[in-house]
This record gives sequence, structure tokens and C-alpha cells, in this order.
Amino acid sequence: MKNFNPADNIQDLQYFGEFGGVNPSISDSSTYTFLSAKTMFDTFEGNMEGCYLYSRHSSPSNLYLDKALAAMEGTETANVSASGMGAITPTLLQLCGTGDHIVSSRTIYGGTYAFLKNFTPRLGIKTTFVDITKLEVVEAAITPETKVLYCETVSNPLLEVADISGLAKIAKRHNLKLVVDNTFSPLSVSPARLGADIVIHSLTKYINGSSDTVGGVTCASQEFIDSLKNVNSGASMLLGPTMDSLRSASVMKNLRTLHIRMKQHSYNALYLAKRFEKDGLKTVYPGLASHPSHKIYKTMINPEYGFGGMMTLDVGTLAKANELMELMQSKNLGYLAVSLGFYKTLFSAPGTSTSSEIPMEEQIEMGLTDGLIRFSIGLDNDIERTYQMMKTCMMDLEILKSDSIVMV
Ligand code: PLP
Repeated sequence: MKNFNPADNIQDLQYFGEFGGVNPSISDSSTYTFLSAKTMFDTFEGNMEGCYLYSRHSSPSNLYLDKALAAMEGTETANVSASGMGAITPTLLQLCGTGDHIVSSRTIYGGTYAFLKNFTPRLGIKTTFVDITKLEVVEAAITPETKVLYCETVSNPLLEVADISGLAKIAKRHNLKLVVDNTFSPLSVSPARLGADIVIHSLTKYINGSSDTVGGVTCASQEFIDSLKNVNSGASMLLGPTMDSLRSASVMKNLRTLHIRMKQHSYNALYLAKRFEKDGLKTVYPGLASHPSHKIYKTMINPEYGFGGMMTLDVGTLAKANELMELMQSKNLGYLAVSLGFYKTLFSAPGTSTSSEIPMEEQIEMGLTDGLIRFSIGLDNDIERTYQMMKTCMMDLEILKSDSIVMV
């Protein structure tokens, strides 16, 4: 990992707009002219560098963002899409067909879980869900039909950490593609450097950071991205989850401050996690020594970006969780909203929101308790002030006593 710094890689890219602008010009066209009919034919065949065909295939603005995200993840190239699900679903459908099998972490984003559990079986693709932290369980689930190992670096919402190097070794041994959703840990973790074949992000979250758009990206080899975009057989080209050029230009501008934001998200989340754990609340944060994967995560991260901005607190019951979230919102401590990576803290009870696709008995089995609140910690300037305000809310609701004894 020594000489690889994802933020420097983004910084080192140089772009000029059409008139020498410091931002690349936005391509405001769905289709492109050709001086010769032969060039158009060659472009359809996919063998003309530097020519654009039609913006569902690619556009200059999208290619700028592709290049920056590929530089960030250390992959040959990338393909942006209209949403995170617009990156995940074509990637998996490109890799798997009828009769194929996927081994997936059981603690993943609810939409991805629903896609694998309910949708892909209609196409004859089966998935086995496993505890991704147990490498022997992962390997035992592999069958001759398995094509893909799928996980999130830091899982949604339980913040389990996948040992990407260990999983990459298993994937190599069995000739599988390791696909990693790195949405929770951009810059902090570089999965491709640890052996992942394909890295996915929902750009909706930290990378864009302003909760004003959805977006996604698949970072991979040139060969795989070409296959996704193939006009005859590419899942991205044919299913059409294309990002709009105006949006990709705006995500690109936000990407430039990601390193500063991630450091602040991580600093604030670690601060609150330490304080609430000390107060006796059940706190899960990968930067705490008490986190079961803290040691392995420490070996995986690019340390200057920290352990990320996601933290969970268990306040005992759903009723208490709901009361606390409503009170915190009324005190302007953040928003009762799904999603993550915003400048304000966002909080939700995953069992009834982002993970509600997961049946109750499976939620219990994976440790998703109904008093669990998922926090995406914001960029607050004075985090001690935030801590004191949150603590006052908890004392008002008798979740914490004034002497910091937990009451749940
Ligand atoms: N991956 C993770 C880890 C997520 O949390 C989400 C959304 O919450 C997604 C993927 C899907 O992204 P999008 O909502 O941009 O489609």
C-alpha cells in the first residue's frame, strides 16, 4: 500500500475545458456526429479511441468521472451509472447467467439483498448468503457453479468488516470474481489494491456528499468495463442505467473535496463512538478496539482517512430509538433520514428502513436488533458540543442517566 494514495491520484489528474476552463466542459449532447461513415461503423464495433457514439454508451463528461474514480480505486478504468443499484445489478448480471451461483455476505445493503434473494432467482441465478467474517464458511459455500464472491468492505448496517485480502485468495483459488461494494469506506480502503477484481460505489453517499443526487460506479479492468458497455451484449449498455452528463460533472466537483470530508467524518465518528462506549452504550464502530474486526481493519486502511463516518448505537427498543431520533432531529442534531455521507448527521433504524427487505428472523440471526440506530456522522465543527447535545437528548429519554449509567 506504500506509494498508493487515492486522493493524490485524483489530485494528479489534469483537465482543461474546451476554452481552457479549469473544469472540463460539460457534454450536452445525447448523440455525436462523424466525419466519415466508416468511423461510425468502427465506433459501433467498439474499436475507435476518442470517438463518441451515443451518450447511453459513454459521454465525455462521464469519461472524466470514470477516469477520476478509476484513479481513486487503482483500477484500469471505470463506468459511472445513474445509481449505486445501477452499478451493482448490471455488474452481477454481466458476470452471471442461468445456472450460476453467487456467494454473498448476508449483511449487505437491503436493495442488493433483495436483488439477490428475490430477483436473480427469476433468471436462474442462485445466491448463498454467509457470514463474510468467517473465511472457512465462505469457502465451504462455493460450488462448481459459483462465479462471484460478493461483499461490502464495511457492511450495511452492522459495520462488519470483510477481510478483502483473505477473500481475494479464496476467489483466486476457485477462479471467482471478487466484487466489493466500497460505499462506506472511500479512500479509507482500496479494495482493488487488496485483491478485489471489481469495486463498486454508490456515489449517492460520501463521494458526492451533498445528498442531491443518486449515482454509482463500477471500477474494474478495461476488459470488464468494455464487456459492460458492449453494444450487443453489455448489461450496462442494454439495461441503460446511464448517468446524465450534467450530474457527472457535478459529482466530479464534489469528489475533489472527498479527502477533507472523509477525515472529518472519521474524526467526528471516532470521537462520538469513544464517548458513547465509555458512557456504557452498546456502540459499534470499526475504529474502536472492541470492534471484532478492528485489528484486521487497521491493516486494511489508508490510515490518514480513518475508520469512516458510520457508527451504530443500540438504545434497547424500537420505541426508544424512534423517540431519540425524533428528539435529535427537533434539536437540529441531524436528520431522521436514510442514506449517508451528508454534511449533517443522518440517522435511521435500519430494521424498519434500509434493511426492511431482510425478513425478521434473518435480521435476528444476523444481530440486527430493533433498538439499533445507524448514524452517518456529519462534518460538525465542534464535535464535543454535538456530543453534549446528543447526551442531553439521551438523558431526557432516560437512555442515559446523568452520571452516564445506561438505563436500557
Ligand atoms: N450499496 C450500499 C452500501 C448502499 O448503502 C446503497 C444505498 O443505500 C447502495 C449500494 C445503493 O445505492 P443507490 O441508492 O445509489 O442506488
